[in-house]
Amino acid sequence: MRGARARGGSLPPPATEDKWVSWLARAFRVGDPGGWVGVGDDAAVLPLAGGLLLTCDTKAEGTHFTRRALPGGIGHKALGSSLSDIAAMGGTPLAALLWVCASKGKGLRRLAGIARGAAALARSLGVRIVGGDTIASRGPLVVGAAVLGRVNRRPLLRSGARPGDRILVSGSLGGSSLGRHLTFTPRVRAGEALARRYRVRAAIDISDGLGRDLVRLCRASGCGARIEAVRIPVSPAARRLSRRTGRSAWRHALSDGEDFELLVAAAPREAARIARERPGGIRWTQIGECVAGASRIVLPGGRESPLRGEGYVHPL
Ligand SMILES: [Mg+2]
Repeated sequence: MRGARARGGSLPPPATEDKWVSWLARAFRVGDPGGWVGVGDDAAVLPLAGGLLLTCDTKAEGTHFTRRALPGGIGHKALGSSLSDIAAMGGTPLAALLWVCASKGKGLRRLAGIARGAAALARSLGVRIVGGDTIASRGPLVVGAAVLGRVNRRPLLRSGARPGDRILVSGSLGGSSLGRHLTFTPRVRAGEALARRYRVRAAIDISDGLGRDLVRLCRASGCGARIEAVRIPVSPAARRLSRRTGRSAWRHALSDGEDFELLVAAAPREAARIARERPGGIRWTQIGECVAGASRIVLPGGRESPLRGEGYVHPL
């Protein structure tokens, strides 16, 4: 990291994930022109062989799943979150690597379950798992996946939204901690359809909560957003969780992480076409629009409140 430090600046990186990623983006600058997109989007874009996408994600016991999680679900989640990033780029996933770091001598059966969970998801989407790594450690169980994908027509970046664009979200949101975070369907088919047949200006997958990932998309695009709480598609799980926590269901839908749905911006007519034609065979809901000013949410009573990136904040 010596070279990275020299280029990223001498100050220690601030302790939030987004600031750390910005620091890394400077440290690992891939340079333009030529079509390279490095750190800072859902996946890297490599202007090679007609356009490739590359991403990875890692999940740890105690942070992303509990000791009691079914092994198949852990494997599904580790691969699925990387596939979700390829989906957010509108790409087609081709091949994956899977790695596991587990304490020595513990549960070969569990490791086999993790591998089977990943294999089943890979098969369902036509992705080949072509390698990886297994290592022993004294720490918690850690499972990760890297995915190589192909660009369809052009990559859907986070950065193309502009004021007046409508904001759409796939599926329904919130309460994924009740179980869906281990069983979700990465929106690969929807992402492919968007890239091939629609003019989408910007896209991101919702991994850390609608509020937080919307602010990320807006920051990359240099605009803000105005969304309406009553329009957010609330999942049945968010309603169940809401009865338990006493927080309103729409707040869960706004802030809970790990929905792995897609959030996109498109011009009004194109957004209406997406909502009507349902690319990927799933529901798409318009929740607001991009604006020139700061991001805000219209609360159910009609009052407007600033949107400050509500969602899961990774401790660093
Ligand atoms: Mg992502």
